[in-house]
Amino acid sequence: MTRIVIIGGGPGGYEAALVAAQLGAEVTVVDSDGLGGSAVLTDCVPSKTLIATAEVMTSFDSSYEELGIIVADDTPPDKQAARVVGVDLGKVNRRVKRLAVAQSHDITQSVTRAGVTVLRGKGRLEGRQDLDGSRAVVVETADGESRTLRADAVLISTGATPRELPDAQPDGERILTWTQVYDLDELPSELIVVGSGVTGAEFAGAYQALGSRVTLVSSRDRVLPGEDPDAAVVLEDVFRRRGMNVMSRSRAESAKRVGDKVEVTLSDGRVITGSHCLMAVGSIPNTADMGLEEAGVKLTESGHVKVDRVSRTSAPGVYAAGDCTGVLMLASVAAMQGRIAMYHSLGDAVQPLNLKTVSSNVFTDPEIATVGYTAADVECGKMDAVCVKLPLRGNPRAKMQGIRDGFVKLFARPGTGIVVGGVVVAPRASELIHPISLAVDNNLTVEQVASAFTVYPSLSGSTAEGARQLHIRKRDGAESAS
Ligand SMILES: Cc1cc2nc3c(=O)[nH]c(=O)nc-3n(C[C@H](O)[C@H](O)[C@H](O)COP(=O)(O)OP(=O)(O)OC[C@H]3O[C@@H](n4cnc5c(N)ncnc54)[C@H](O)[C@@H]3O)c2cc1C
Repeated sequence: MTRIVIIGGGPGGYEAALVAAQLGAEVTVVDSDGLGGSAVLTDCVPSKTLIATAEVMTSFDSSYEELGIIVADDTPPDKQAARVVGVDLGKVNRRVKRLAVAQSHDITQSVTRAGVTVLRGKGRLEGRQDLDGSRAVVVETADGESRTLRADAVLISTGATPRELPDAQPDGERILTWTQVYDLDELPSELIVVGSGVTGAEFAGAYQALGSRVTLVSSRDRVLPGEDPDAAVVLEDVFRRRGMNVMSRSRAESAKRVGDKVEVTLSDGRVITGSHCLMAVGSIPNTADMGLEEAGVKLTESGHVKVDRVSRTSAPGVYAAGDCTGVLMLASVAAMQGRIAMYHSLGDAVQPLNLKTVSSNVFTDPEIATVGYTAADVECGKMDAVCVKLPLRGNPRAKMQGIRDGFVKLFARPGTGIVVGGVVVAPRASELIHPISLAVDNNLTVEQVASAFTVYPSLSGSTAEGARQLHIRKRDGAESAS
């Protein structure tokens, strides 16, 4: 029986464990904090649970007047975003933590049921391969013992931790990382969010919807610098319209507590004050003190494990998956890398990782969902594609729902009409992206996407309409060329 040891039980680790057990290996997962990893316990699941409450607040607060709903409340409408409905943050956070722990428990049960051994503790590689090709993994267990496991293959899937600035040390009370916000019992009255990437934008939007006054400090020209530029413009407009103070080209140097306030100093000397500060300035891989380099595993300058598209590291028999590789910081990608590692090491059929079919979503309001090639890829000549963008304003269902912001964008190859990418900016864009994802994954043409029925009225009608417009453009192009 092949012995597999997996260090780190997040999506990269536990999905790999399930596959390896199904393929008949003897599998041990070593995890220090609980199965599900940061994804389930501190990052992905808790933030989306918090956002579920924020979403209800926003959709009610932003559309009730237009939809003709009367609220018996005489608070002046210009007071604050969540003026009509309020939130009990202590209760919200208790729910967040309860769901996270329950999901971790469910994962532990299903992994154990599959025959995997779960060991609570910290794991590290011990030296290089033995003559028989096996390796030693040393585990400092939660009850203080040291155990050595032998493995024919090892998967490193230890994830990442919030990056901290030297002069903005989190105290867990007023200066917070995203893992600490769920201990708050009361809503921050004035929240400063430092960092306008996906995490910063999601929390800024959520707390604004819950009723905090939010300042978003962004070092770049616009929020979400890594996303589709048109989508980022829509989101920034919405944020500002709802009263958020978005400070562009502003770099935070330090954050310190002054009494019951927090002062954030920017690199140009300006000082902003709030009741709380959330630092969302990226993450660092959990790869230190794990014996990786001693075992022959090469790291990048940033400390990420170097891997190829079948998750192999530079050391024979050692694979890596997920955030510790820095390939694409998504739970779905971590899980896929982990599964691929197991298919490869256990000799099963394996498809190398293809990042061009990954769909991802920014859970703001509106949401921003993306798949395949992007506007940046087209602009820099990486992909030759034509593009269509349909604002949701013209969509009948959007009008009925009172949705004004958002669009559907499609990219297709000019000659063949094959759909190579798309962006949806809309409420629940995370659900609406799937047909485009299917098209990208299966090389469907704009004709095929256009000919499938959509429900009338529906937001997905805009996807079919976009495909029709690209078809007409392709036909007209072909006609004018002939
Ligand atoms: C706020 C936030 C929201 C996010 N939302 C989403 C989302 O909506 N969708 C999405 O796809 N992605 C989301 N992500 C990204 C997602 O959480 C990560 O990509 C995912 O967690 C990566 O999984 P992983 O298996 O690599 O590591 P992790 O989930 O970080 O798990 C690693 C595990 O390894 C353990 N560990 C570390 N070192 C050791 C050691 N030496 N020995 C034993 N165990 C160890 C850790 O304690 C942890 O339990 C979000 C991230 C953040 C920060």
